[in-house]
Amino acid sequence: MLFNEVIGHEEIKQRLLASLQAGRVSHALLFSGESGFGLLPLALALVQYLLCTGEKGADACGTCPACRKMQKLVHPDVHFVFPVTKGNKGKTPVSDDYAGEWRDFLLANPYATLDDWVAAMGADENAQAMIYVDESQQVLRKLTLKSYESDYKVMIIWLPEKMRGECANKLLKILEEPYPNTLFILLSEQPGAVITTILSRTQRLRVPPLQQQEIARELEQRYRLSPEQAAEVAHVARGDWGRALKMLERQEGAGEEHDNQELFIKLMRLCWERKMLPVNQFVQDLTSRGREKQKNFLAHCIRMIRENFIRNFGMKELVYMTAREQEFSKRFSPYVNEENVVPLHDELERAHADILRNGNGKIIFTDLCIKVMQNIRPKESSRQAT
Ligand SMILES: [Zn+2]
Repeated sequence: MLFNEVIGHEEIKQRLLASLQAGRVSHALLFSGESGFGLLPLALALVQYLLCTGEKGADACGTCPACRKMQKLVHPDVHFVFPVTKGNKGKTPVSDDYAGEWRDFLLANPYATLDDWVAAMGADENAQAMIYVDESQQVLRKLTLKSYESDYKVMIIWLPEKMRGECANKLLKILEEPYPNTLFILLSEQPGAVITTILSRTQRLRVPPLQQQEIARELEQRYRLSPEQAAEVAHVARGDWGRALKMLERQEGAGEEHDNQELFIKLMRLCWERKMLPVNQFVQDLTSRGREKQKNFLAHCIRMIRENFIRNFGMKELVYMTAREQEFSKRFSPYVNEENVVPLHDELERAHADILRNGNGKIIFTDLCIKVMQNIRPKESSRQAT
C-alpha cells in the first residue's frame, strides 16, 4: 500500500515519512485507534516505504520487486500476527494456520474489524479470537531467521490486546532486547488492555478518526455518490472508513431488494396475462444479469409467495413485508391460496437449486414461467386480473 492510497491522515503520513527519510524509525511502534480509522493501511504504507528498493520520494516507488510483493502481501520479510480462533483445527492455532485467509481478508479491505475477520476465518460469530501462547515461538523463530530480501524484518501485530499473558511475556523479552534491523508495529484498538511493560517499550502514535469531509470525498470519488449522499454516509460513519463501507453495502442491498420486488411484480403480471412474447423478453433480461442476482431474485420470490399466502390467510401478525411489498400484496395475495401455494413454492425452490447448480438460466426461467402461469390462474378461472 502506498501512502497516497491511505485515506486521510495527512499529518501522520508526513510525520512517518520524515522519520523514515531521516532513518529514525523506532524499533517498536504502537498505533492506536479503531481499525476502521486505518491502522493497518498506515502500517502497510510505512513498511512498503521502508522496504522499497526503487526510487522513493514522498512515497514508495510502487514498481520495484519489493513494492510489488508488498502490494500482494507476499514479502518474505514481513510477518503478521493476529487473533485466531480455535475452530476445528484441534490444536492451539497460530496466525500461520490462517495465512491464506488473512491475505485475502487484508487485500479485500484493510479497514475491516475483528468481527469481520472472525467471519472470514469461517468461525461462528461468538467464537473467541486470541493470540495464543504458541505464537511467541513462531515470532522468535521468524526473527532468528536471516532476512531474505531486505535489510529489515518486520513483524506487524494486529490487536496485541488479544494476546494471552504468557505470549505477551515472551514477546516482551524480545522487545527488551531488540534484534538488529527488526521493526515491530503493534496496532491496537484498546492500548489500555496491552500490558504496560510492552506499552513502555513502544513509541506510541494515536490515530484519530478520519475527518468527515475526507470520508465524503472518498465516497464521491470511489463510489460516485452524490455530494449529499456522501455527506450523509460520512456523517453516520463517524470517522470510520470501514463503517462507511458497511453502510454502502447495506444501501446497495436495499437497492437490490427494491429491484427484486419490481421484477417479482412484473413476473406475476406477465404470467397472469399469459403472454409468451413478453415473458421471453423478461427471461432474456433476467438471464443477462449475474447468477448471484438471479439466485437472490428467486429467494425473494420464494419469500413473497410465503408472505402473500400468510396474508391471504389473514394472519397479519406473521407477515414480514416492507410497506412497498404490502402495497402490491393488497391486490395480489388473494391469488396465492391453498391450492397453488405448494406447487408455486416447489417450482421456485427447484429453479433456485438449478441456478445454484449452474444450470442453463434461459431454460430454467422459461420453464418456471410456464409453471407459474399454470398455477397462478387456474384454467376454469374467468375472473379478470386487476
Ligand atoms: Zn518500490
